[in-house]
Amino acid sequence: MPTSSRPVYRFAPSPNGHLHLGHALSGLLNYEAAREAGGRFLLRIEDIDIIRCTPELTREMLEDLAWLGLSWEEPVRRQSDDFNDYRAALARLDEMGLIYRGYLTRSEIKAHVAAHEAGARDYPRDPDGAPIYPGDEAVLSAEEIKRRKSSNAPFALRLDMEKALARIGKPLTWREAGSGPNGEHGLLVADPASWGDVVLARKDTPTSYHLSVVVDDALQGVTHVMRGQDLFFATAVHRLLQALLDLPEPVYHHHRLILGPDGRKLSKSSRDTSLRELRAAGHTPADIRAMIALR
Ligand code: GLU
Repeated sequence: MPTSSRPVYRFAPSPNGHLHLGHALSGLLNYEAAREAGGRFLLRIEDIDIIRCTPELTREMLEDLAWLGLSWEEPVRRQSDDFNDYRAALARLDEMGLIYRGYLTRSEIKAHVAAHEAGARDYPRDPDGAPIYPGDEAVLSAEEIKRRKSSNAPFALRLDMEKALARIGKPLTWREAGSGPNGEHGLLVADPASWGDVVLARKDTPTSYHLSVVVDDALQGVTHVMRGQDLFFATAVHRLLQALLDLPEPVYHHHRLILGPDGRKLSKSSRDTSLRELRAAGHTPADIRAMIALR
């Protein structure tokens, strides 16, 4: 098959801790789906957080994945090498007038939400449970906003959701080949507004998860985004950014999550499910497959 017509899958972990059983499931599902479809399998290192994603963790991540039986195309795309691609996408959104600087700190947002909820009113939250950005004017005086602007205070570059949606002017959809947490499947309507004014970059980091994932999937020609259900709702933001930046729309396939004994999503800090610990304890890749119910 010519490269251009082959499906392209990718597995895009972040080396900010050791990989766990959930990553094993995602990596193996992508790898095997690509193989079954006669497609390509790419590995992408999502290390925009250059403080937490160390070279050591990156090296160990590649080692764990190879041990598990995965192989991937070289060169591997590493987001920390590609900040200029994200800067260019951000500049395009800025030219469209869709980006603004938000100066509120996390603790200011928290205090604002607490004051609101003290009045027994629910504060609007995004699908991950984080408060929707209230806007600087809702919290700071005009003088304070002016002071922060002129003193080059820390800020987040946010997408003006209302303007962005107005620019697109029609409902966005995506094709879900897997399923959402409530069994959502097939042609789905995206609801980016539920996220409010999402962060696309910060004063010292020229990108964010949402922006870089969308830019990279397009640059790498990814046709199938297969990932955990924890990212199901984020797809709405991704579809919006794709529409704004004229990027192609991949098929999405969200898969089940591996839960810990407490019924919660695994985290990179829970050592008993890290692939390295399991391997050190003598488990084989076949044992890992059994643990995540993969045949
Ligand atoms: N880097 C993200 C993570 O480790 C995955 C991004 C994606 O698959 O869209 O959770």
